Amino acid sequence: MSRFWSDHIHALEPYVPGEQPQQKMLKLNTNEHAYGPSPKVHEAIAAKNNANLRLYPSADSAELQHAIAELHQVRPQQVFLGNGSDEVLAHLFNTLFLRDGRPLLMPDISYSFYKTYCAYFKIPHEIQPLAEDFTLCVKDYSQSRAVPPAGIIFANPNAPTGVALPLESIEIIAQANPDSAVVVDEAYVDFGADSAVTLLNRYHNIVVVRTLSKSYALAGMRVGYAVASADIVAGLQRVKDSFNSYPLDSLAQAAALAAVQDRAYFDEKCLAIISSRDKLTKDLQALGFNVLPSKTNFVFATHPQHEAESLQQQLREHHILVRHFKQKRIEQFLRITVGTPEQCDTLIEAVRKILCA
Ligand SMILES: *Cc1c(COP(=O)(O)O)cnc(C)c1O
Repeated sequence: MSRFWSDHIHALEPYVPGEQPQQKMLKLNTNEHAYGPSPKVHEAIAAKNNANLRLYPSADSAELQHAIAELHQVRPQQVFLGNGSDEVLAHLFNTLFLRDGRPLLMPDISYSFYKTYCAYFKIPHEIQPLAEDFTLCVKDYSQSRAVPPAGIIFANPNAPTGVALPLESIEIIAQANPDSAVVVDEAYVDFGADSAVTLLNRYHNIVVVRTLSKSYALAGMRVGYAVASADIVAGLQRVKDSFNSYPLDSLAQAAALAAVQDRAYFDEKCLAIISSRDKLTKDLQALGFNVLPSKTNFVFATHPQHEAESLQQQLREHHILVRHFKQKRIEQFLRITVGTPEQCDTLIEAVRKILCA
């Protein structure tokens, strides 16, 4: 607190990220990639590092923008890059959701940064509870309203539940809200869900947000992007260029380009993580956990006889970090990142010891 702060700083509710410990811990708490990026990424960074860092980077990350456009079969003008998808989301909230007091709709259990941005930009929002089984109720987002929402946002697959929504449901929502932007945060989609990018041709109100932090193992590089109609991207560009025209440094652009282009490595590692996830799910079920069906690189699990928060603390004593949210409806769940097969075994062994103690 300082009397020199601007007035609105007092009311902010900053997002609290998962812990990045200094000591050696098995980190299964922030959904980082189990294996790390393609070796080509390191080569690309080294090559760039020897090049001319005296120069500013490409302001719109043109080469990377073209590569991502090709990947998704869209035009480069439909791709907007940012310093992590969190920044892309912030620009989206600012660009799309401040329309004449119309509300933003979002689920009660979702990525908590959405509420933080609502507070930051003073965006009115309405929370729609997920169903008992943590699926999204499509009718909550598709019924007609006196005041149509400015927008709708949800993560698909959802975080922190891991549950995926079928594309038909997203289509119903987009169709029912022709005057609202529908933002689909696909941070985890590469681990087995269907992307709404394929709906962009038909629904110009859909915005898909992606990150290279999870499936491309580049959390440390901070690269995210949105794919949308060229008109929406032009709005994002205006906001970006009123704030920071060079969000991605040269090394991040080079690393991201190499990561996106190495499809063989990407596919192999996504499949490996999916297979570890399915085994981890079975192993946790064998220990009595209920595990939500996950299409991500994490599982969301609850044990009928053991308090989640206490399990989290005991796992920490075994030098394993997992994520627990002190939030209604999910306080008995742990979110566990899928590691390598060895890391998953280490976790299962520790859980077994804790449950038997
Ligand atoms: C990890 C995550 C992000 C943020 O990704 P960055 O690109 O690292 O900022 C956004 N949305 C969801 C749902 C996430 O889990």
